[in-house]
Amino acid sequence: MGGKSVTVGVLALQGNVSEHIDAFAAAFRQRGSGEASVIEVRSPADLSGCAALTIPGGESTTISRLIDRNGLYEPIRTFPGGIFATCAGMVLMATLVADPRVHTLGLMDMTVDRNAFGRQKESFEADITVAGLDGGPFHAIFIRAPVVTSAGTSVRVLSSLDQGIVAAEKGRYMALAFHPELGGDLRLHERFLRNLGISDRFMGRT
Ligand code: GLN
Repeated sequence: MGGKSVTVGVLALQGNVSEHIDAFAAAFRQRGSGEASVIEVRSPADLSGCAALTIPGGESTTISRLIDRNGLYEPIRTFPGGIFATCAGMVLMATLVADPRVHTLGLMDMTVDRNAFGRQKESFEADITVAGLDGGPFHAIFIRAPVVTSAGTSVRVLSSLDQGIVAAEKGRYMALAFHPELGGDLRLHERFLRNLGISDRFMGRT
């Protein structure tokens, strides 16, 4: 008999949606979690069946506007599951962003600077050290990435570059300035699922 079925949602309003669906599907496949599913979330009803939500990279101002327009702001703020937020998603998780067009969710006590690497470094890759991640550095792909410039004590800093914090977690939330859905290394997906206890449920399945 298999474990309980788990659904991970990917906020599908704008941005890197299909890459995240593929990456979570691959993470579940890797450990033989056949009963897990990954769905697109566009409405509060879609979200209600999910154990976790991914907020993808894209344009945080646009995603923010569409969250409001689709009546998802409060449902995401009060969502009891995990949130895996990447790039624009990291911007949305913050309490403070110096851009009035972004209606931040305020779920992680941190200040975020959008496009923090400037024009010359719009896109780059770097091997970063992530606290508590086994298997060596993580090859991170940054695309017009934000950084966290300050974080409260409730936020655990996982990785920093000179410009600021690029990976952080707080309980069931993980926020990454880069794109773990690109590049094929699923260790951060795994860790996020494990933080939620989802991994354990499936690991016991033989
Ligand atoms: N610069 C974008 C923003 O602030 C984020 C870029 C990305 O998600 N790749 O919204």
